[in-house]
Amino acid sequence: TVRTRFAPSPTGFIHLGNIRSALYPWAFARSQGGTFILRIEDTDLERSSQAAVDVILEGMAWLGLDHDEGPYYQMQRMDRYKQVLREMQDKGLVYPCYMSVADLDALRERQMANKEKPRYDGTWRPEPGKQLPPVPEGVQPVLRFRNPSNGIVAWDDKVKGRIEISNEELDDLVIARPDGTPTYNFCVVVDDIDMGITHVIRGDDHVNNTPRQINMFRALGQEPPVFAHLPTVLNERGEKMSKRNGAKPVTQFRDEGFLADAVVNYLARLGWSHGDDEIFSREQFLQWFDLDHLGRSAAQFDEAKLRWVNAQHLKAMPDADLAPLVLPRLQARGIAADERLPRICGLLKDRCDTTIALADWVARFYVPVQASDEERAKHLTDGVRPAISMLAKMLETVAWEKGAISESLKEVLRATGLKMPQLAMPVRVLVLGTAQTPSLDAVLEAMPRDVVLQRLSAA
Ligand code: GLU
Repeated sequence: TVRTRFAPSPTGFIHLGNIRSALYPWAFARSQGGTFILRIEDTDLERSSQAAVDVILEGMAWLGLDHDEGPYYQMQRMDRYKQVLREMQDKGLVYPCYMSVADLDALRERQMANKEKPRYDGTWRPEPGKQLPPVPEGVQPVLRFRNPSNGIVAWDDKVKGRIEISNEELDDLVIARPDGTPTYNFCVVVDDIDMGITHVIRGDDHVNNTPRQINMFRALGQEPPVFAHLPTVLNERGEKMSKRNGAKPVTQFRDEGFLADAVVNYLARLGWSHGDDEIFSREQFLQWFDLDHLGRSAAQFDEAKLRWVNAQHLKAMPDADLAPLVLPRLQARGIAADERLPRICGLLKDRCDTTIALADWVARFYVPVQASDEERAKHLTDGVRPAISMLAKMLETVAWEKGAISESLKEVLRATGLKMPQLAMPVRVLVLGTAQTPSLDAVLEAMPRDVVLQRLSAA
């Protein structure tokens, strides 16, 4: 059965480009009835932080990318890595290398001068009949993995197609430092084996690691998993999206009023497609998702498009589900909303692109907003004031529902000879502080009678 993982390094706050590398393995596991594993790759002690881990956990929880196992932390698995290192040593799969940093640098410079690709030259690699240099005193060696010296490493990448690398191009990777700590590529392979990963879906910045990792899988007696290397996500300036060049943390989108389902929908499309479908639900996505329709070219993040997708999801959301998202934002402003909230959200949801914009709008129903002097002067002419008084009088006793309210409006028009906009615009300005509102009868119905009368009295 399918087992996938997301393996972020908590070095800086995870952004939308990163979390896309969680979405696909999650979706693949969910759509195949598989298992999704979260693994925190925190071995870079200097750059890792708990705050960054928190954003990963919070962001994934918010987006509903739930994991079945983990989070595992690589720092808690050090004993296991060291155990595998010892086993590899016993089997002759690794060897100690005593070459000093200065000698490595010199080697590198000679190779660069000869226009060769810098690579370790195998000085300390034991071979039958080969005389190794004398072991220098007081030097702690690194451990190097004995990479196959000929043949090719090849895999059928689910995104990039067949990739073949000649082993001659790969030198013997350092897998343990002089102090015995394991290095990155080695930990990843041990983890992917121990965690039974069947499909590695990750960013293509790791594609150069893959041939070395495949050789280690084989040396450890394991068939490598299936690989799918996702193309980069570019920011709006066309640069690789990165924590360093201003990409927002995932959780900031939640704070800015984006819906989890909309972000999932947007990210799903950023590197995968299902025909021409742009707007879809989480359930549809999981039904449709497959590795065969992952895109091959870099995708560009576009916040305006994300806003549009968010607006579509807002519009489609049941009023009763929207209200709980808007409520805390009202409470933060000291507004105690009531049972009318879902209905008010429903009136406004198709004119807002975030829940923040929606809360701004909804607030007008609870706290009066004064229209600009200009708007008041434009709509609240002396000629219309008697009509407004007449309307207020009728609204005192009319049944408080849309149809009856609409009848009262029409009656005032008949009695005064005004046209609907001549009456409706000033009423909107008085009641909600703007002439741009949803249908007036529905707006009035959604407010308590006494509030409407009080706001009209300001005429
Ligand atoms: N920790 C790596 C990163 O954050 C991912 C490693 C992997 O998926 O194999 O880029």
